[in-house]
Amino acid sequence: MSYEAIVVGLGAHGSAAAAVLARRGLRVLGLERFGRGEAHGSSGGWSRMIRIAHYEDPSLVPLAEASWDRWLALGDEVGTTLLQETGGLYGGPPGHAVLEGSREGAARHALAVEELDAAEIHRRWPIFRLAEDATAIFETKAGVLHADRANAAFLEVAERAGADLRFGRRVIDWRPAAGGGFEVEDVDGSVVGGDHLVLATGPWIGDLLSDLRLPLQVERECPCWFTPTVDPSSVGADRLPIWVMVERGTAYYGVRHDPAVGLKVSIHHWGTFGGPDEIDRVVGDAEIERIRAWMRIRMPAANGPLAHARVCLYTNTPDGAFILDTHPAGPGVAFASACSGHGFKFAPVIGEALADLALTGTSALPIEGFRAARLVAR
Ligand SMILES: Cc1cc2nc3c(=O)[nH]c(=O)nc-3n(C[C@H](O)[C@H](O)[C@H](O)COP(=O)(O)OP(=O)(O)OC[C@H]3O[C@@H](n4cnc5c(N)ncnc54)[C@H](O)[C@@H]3O)c2cc1C
Repeated sequence: MSYEAIVVGLGAHGSAAAAVLARRGLRVLGLERFGRGEAHGSSGGWSRMIRIAHYEDPSLVPLAEASWDRWLALGDEVGTTLLQETGGLYGGPPGHAVLEGSREGAARHALAVEELDAAEIHRRWPIFRLAEDATAIFETKAGVLHADRANAAFLEVAERAGADLRFGRRVIDWRPAAGGGFEVEDVDGSVVGGDHLVLATGPWIGDLLSDLRLPLQVERECPCWFTPTVDPSSVGADRLPIWVMVERGTAYYGVRHDPAVGLKVSIHHWGTFGGPDEIDRVVGDAEIERIRAWMRIRMPAANGPLAHARVCLYTNTPDGAFILDTHPAGPGVAFASACSGHGFKFAPVIGEALADLALTGTSALPIEGFRAARLVAR
């Protein structure tokens, strides 16, 4: 059986692309190495932040806004809440990129934001006891994406539109087929053909694109959830905005208390790297202590028993931006490395962009700056 489109990797971006392609009427095959709902890559877990005043690159603001609307529409379509609006707080010492980048993104795109000092932040959310010189940008249009639910929603939409999604299928190779289109080979030796191909294998993307020598680094992250020492509502932990706070060069971030899982507090960029199949999947005491050392001073009421800890992977580019491109082996093959620790929120538009790239080689979405050529000589 031959397909009109094959998607390899069904994390947030591959499952979004499969949904878009199937909805455009193509006969779609999706192949995922692990089981449905298992997450060994980057997309698993309960929550991801969606920020609009994107400090990494103000030019991402329109893509974040477009994604926001698509998340709401996807939630309506599958009949569940995927995006909870909480507001967002991004700050640190004067001059830091998180603060200045958020300010610049907001100014350039006329976003409604407030500037809050440490005292005002404490007044609104008493759980924070920030450094006196800390300042933050607060935006109301920001929130929490329910990650596992969101991934399941894309898969549901893809299957409803007729996609054939297969799990426990590890692709080891792909190549142009003699008669046109592409062949994809599974680890068990089976080969399947397709007219168009999307490669969205997250931290494993280098395995299927080794000829491109993409300069990617896989980083081990350890998100943690804690049980506050006091009633969460007494310190505002149950109504926190999503937040990113920088102190002495380290960015801490978190999500409001959820009675089912706890209060998320973590570090953005832990700084340990390795291959996705070799990385230690157990969070160690020293890592939890790194978060506690900051919480003891800045969020003492958060520093209760550990509720959960897990390992998740970032796939970083040298410039922190994404890679979205077609393969030089021919039009019809699109690939993504859309992480660097901030790609989840964009999944609805990245799915569209991947579908556009695989079908036409280009996209009306503003993604030209994500071509791989900026990082590698072809
Ligand atoms: C701790 C953490 C916190 C984050 N926080 C945020 C946040 O707040 N906001 C935000 O926007 N982003 C955030 N991100 C980033 C975001 O989660 C990622 O950008 C996004 O999930 C990447 O999705 P993906 O589909 O590209 O990769 P993945 O989710 O890794 O999906 C790739 C899939 O391909 C499969 N696969 C791999 N190799 C093969 C193969 N050979 N054959 C078949 N299948 C294969 C894998 O099993 C996997 O399911 C965070 C990431 C982490 C780890």
